Amino acid sequence: MYLAELSSPAMAALPRSTPIVFPIAAMEQHGPHLPLYTDSLLLGEIVRRAEIQTSGQVVFAPLQWLGNSDHHLDFPGTLSAPPRVYLDLLVAMAENVIRHGFQRLVFLNGHGGNDVPGRQAIFELRQSYRDRHDLLLLIATYWHLGDPFKDAHIPFVQPHMGHACEWETSMILRLAPHLVGDNARLAAVDATPAFHPAFRGWTARERSPTGYLGAPSAARVEKGERLFQVFTAGTVRLLERVREWNGSTWQE
Ligand SMILES: [Zn+2]
Repeated sequence: MYLAELSSPAMAALPRSTPIVFPIAAMEQHGPHLPLYTDSLLLGEIVRRAEIQTSGQVVFAPLQWLGNSDHHLDFPGTLSAPPRVYLDLLVAMAENVIRHGFQRLVFLNGHGGNDVPGRQAIFELRQSYRDRHDLLLLIATYWHLGDPFKDAHIPFVQPHMGHACEWETSMILRLAPHLVGDNARLAAVDATPAFHPAFRGWTARERSPTGYLGAPSAARVEKGERLFQVFTAGTVRLLERVREWNGSTWQE
């Protein structure tokens, strides 16, 4: 069910163990061929599918389109909440529903830049409510929730998610093909991180003057549908685990 469609009394009547999902995405450049709203469109589609499959057992808050996208700010159209602002925003949203007694919160993430502040928000919330043992506080990035290579022979050229890449372009092709520009002649850009296993701070422009990482020319509609199915199934599985948690122990 959608928080936006509930009345306040209807929300108040829900069991406090009902999982509350905050979908968090972004508005940022996605190369020359995809719309700025790509991450929000893709996560919105996964939420739409997952909401149907969880049939009234989970509350989905409205998608938060403003993410932490400072590393994309060299490209016009990118809108970003700076990391500390974003961290406070996530903590505050979570505290709102904790105040109303809800115990199981999931940040469902659709943008890489949200991962570090999202984890920090979860960490800080846990410390703030350290004497509570009925709280389950999670963050998950949707493309880590399923394996598109398992039991399938779809010829992906990328082994993992890039940016405005084969995977994201395929999903936008599936969802809104009229929003995809000419991707056929875009040469692949190496998405390998530098100085691995160290983490090197980065801006999008220094890794890719065109703004994408990966191989957008390899995008296909059927790959997009496969990715949506796999990631939605993984999201639904995670939310089932959240619902089935016994409400007090560290492990499930
Ligand atoms: Zn993206």
